[in-house]
Amino acid sequence: MGRYARNAHDAPDSTVPTHTTRLLIIGAGPAGYTAAIYAARAGLAPVLVAGMQPGGQLTITTDVENYPGFAEAVQGPWLMEQMRAQAEHVGTKLVYDLVTHVNLSSHPFVAECDSGDRYEAEAVVIATGAQARWLGIPGEKELSGFGVSACATCDGFFFRGKDVAVIGGGNSAVEEALYLSNLARHVTLVHRRDSLRAEKILQQRLFAKENVTILWNQATEAMLGTDASRPIARALLLRDARSGEKRELPVDGVFVAIGHEPATALFRGQLAMDEGGYLLVEPGSTRTSIPGVFAAGDVADRIYRQAVTAAGTGCMAALDAEKWLAHRAASAPSPASYGTETSKERVA
Ligand code: NAP
Repeated sequence: MGRYARNAHDAPDSTVPTHTTRLLIIGAGPAGYTAAIYAARAGLAPVLVAGMQPGGQLTITTDVENYPGFAEAVQGPWLMEQMRAQAEHVGTKLVYDLVTHVNLSSHPFVAECDSGDRYEAEAVVIATGAQARWLGIPGEKELSGFGVSACATCDGFFFRGKDVAVIGGGNSAVEEALYLSNLARHVTLVHRRDSLRAEKILQQRLFAKENVTILWNQATEAMLGTDASRPIARALLLRDARSGEKRELPVDGVFVAIGHEPATALFRGQLAMDEGGYLLVEPGSTRTSIPGVFAAGDVADRIYRQAVTAAGTGCMAALDAEKWLAHRAASAPSPASYGTETSKERVA
């Protein structure tokens, strides 16, 4: 075995740096940072482990116009940097590390990180987010943020009066197409099969739209950009799934809506999830199936997925955790003994 226990279920290795905290927050998007701001201001001295992409999905977003408080558009990375600074300013301990294993089956909860560090926490807020699924075709990555998006609510406004395409055939794709039909001049829904999997009522609404066309049986092979030093999207390269015929579809914007993947692999088998892997919380709360473990943001939200809703549930998670910790402390026979062992370093 290496320097530290590889599995959180194994007995702890005494040489592993172990930190204790009342509240561990996993994830550094709007949900995690907001939970941290509220928890720090409540005196919980939270530790936030930031993960691989501190700032989350907003760090790959350009203009943000729908986060309240800013009359002018702000840049996604800048907004996240402000949230990070605010969380640290009020007393959050920010750790740039990746949680690789958790054990939520006994108390205190344990999280092991890529660096080898190990955290013991009285309560945990999971805010690991979700990632849009991408097609992985040529041009997609290069044009992302420059005419290619995975969120109509976020970016549709930039395509007012323009021609856009939505790729996909599920509820998300149809909802995005409906949303865009109120802004764009024309919306083309590009689907790889000859029927949609979206709910019938959504399909009926879509079919009733005069400025929406559906292209059936079309595989998107590439996204094409303008011939400029900083290309922007100009067309899709489509292939008819039956005839193999190829064509270009001119567009000003492309919305990829082929689903999302919540970052919940760490918690599989430990926390209740729905069939899509989203964490289940008690309605109206952030309480997961394990008392003391809370979930906020996109990791538990397959519907709204907005920065502002993630921030809102981050606030809820901190308040839920604070209440749970207070209740636990009040009902415990003796005060919690966190940080009293000499081998442990209390992070604050
Ligand atoms: P989804 O239901 O999994 O649909 C994904 C769509 O993308 C499918 O039509 C699929 O095509 C297509 N697709 C997947 N990979 C593709 C690829 N490589 N190339 C081209 N097309 C591809 O995902 P979703 O629409 O995001 O919905 C996810 C879940 O959230 C669903 O349970 C949905 O009902 C729910 N949801 C609910 C609401 C609501 O209640 N208002 C809103 C949004 C989402 P095929 O059909 O050929 O497989």
